[in-house]
Amino acid sequence: MTSREPRGVIQLIPDACTVCMICVQECPSWCIAIDSHHEEVSEEGARRPRTVSVLDRFTIDFGLCMYCGICVDVCPFDALEWQPQHDYPAATRSGLEHDTDRLASHGSS
Ligand code: SF4
Ligand code: SF4
Repeated sequence: MTSREPRGVIQLIPDACTVCMICVQECPSWCIAIDSHHEEVSEEGARRPRTVSVLDRFTIDFGLCMYCGICVDVCPFDALEWQPQHDYPAATRSGLEHDTDRLASHGSS
């Protein structure tokens, strides 16, 4: 996305997220939160299982977000994308915190 394109809302592509935590560390507003766990994956021919991080929950608090785009820019796996929707009001403060499913749905509406 170029800087001229609208920054409406951020979409998460959960399958692309490796839980590397770079976006969490680089976000200047501390509005990204991630929960994850580790699993062992056995691969044919490997001498021992490989440990991978598995995403449990990813949230962005749009009540704190500055729409700077740093998270989208730094993600090495293109798991975050800008989408043009601007209309996502919330009746409560907590309604501005979008969880994994809601973030993933932003690309489909
Ligand atoms: S756009 Fe900026 S403030 Fe908003 S979640 Fe991404 S890095 Fe954080
Ligand atoms: S930088 Fe990308 S891959 Fe890494 S945790 Fe954030 S969204 Fe997931």
